Amino acid sequence: MPAPFPSDQFTIEEVADRVWAAIAIPGASSSSNCGIVDLGYATLIFDTSHTPQAAHDLWTAARLCTGKDPSIVVNSHWHFDHSFGNPAFRGATFFGTRITRERLLAFGTRFADGIGEPDWIRDSDAMQATLGATTEPLARDALTAKLAARRELGLVPRGEMILVPSSNFEGRHRFPGPRGVQVVEGGGHSESDSVLFLEDTEVLFAGDLVSVGTHPEMAGGSLPRWTTTLGRIEAIGAKVIVPGHGPVGTPEACDELRTYFERMEARAEQAGPVPMPEPYTTWRSPARFEENLAFVRSGGLAGPSESTGPSNGGLKRR
Ligand SMILES: [Zn+2]
Repeated sequence: MPAPFPSDQFTIEEVADRVWAAIAIPGASSSSNCGIVDLGYATLIFDTSHTPQAAHDLWTAARLCTGKDPSIVVNSHWHFDHSFGNPAFRGATFFGTRITRERLLAFGTRFADGIGEPDWIRDSDAMQATLGATTEPLARDALTAKLAARRELGLVPRGEMILVPSSNFEGRHRFPGPRGVQVVEGGGHSESDSVLFLEDTEVLFAGDLVSVGTHPEMAGGSLPRWTTTLGRIEAIGAKVIVPGHGPVGTPEACDELRTYFERMEARAEQAGPVPMPEPYTTWRSPARFEENLAFVRSGGLAGPSESTGPSNGGLKRR
């Protein structure tokens, strides 16, 4: 593995023995973090990022790190910035929940059908104009990443954008081998979220259930379920948490996120514009603050979120 890995999409960090975090570079189309795990008999990828370009870099990093072609992919949830890289891993076995498969197929197809249409062009132009008028570096990074992803996805043939997980699990799936690797369904950020936990190294890949130094995306989530899942993530005993967005963290990130939710709820009760409180002015994706505030004010956080059945039994090790 060359150091540094020559990619403008990810920095690769070995967070434990034979376990790597691929941390998205701010402003790059990769947009979200991924994981690489050497199971010994196979190389596992956790989330595939946003575009083919980013996913190809991830594939190469996995090959260089483990000496094997990636053959197992886990999708934490359906959001495009975690799953549109799937086609770069074609031929692998894809794991995800039924809900993840269904949502990715439905919303992904709709998104792919819209590319190049008048609305798509208008939205892209508006985003470009906003970028031109934005000077704040954190806001520029977020917009630059979105525009880069749009440019790259705009070149993907319509029928080749989506590859859905066909090995569907409910609740939990344990991979064979001595590392004790399991994917466990939690919930709260999207209709169905899963984390990957490695018992031997106590590393947890959290998908978007945890973000570090980055405003979480609350729209579409369920605060009660999310808060419950954060408690279960803490209880699982991970020492290292690789978030969906932001740098590698620790279980303290769960507490920080819970505090964020509480403060958003308190702020949402205030009338009129609310200034962003400290320390969130230094967090990435600052536009999410207003979006999250609007979502909380709409009462959306307690809104319907599909039950994930047995997953609610908890994130136990065994
Ligand atoms: Zn997400």
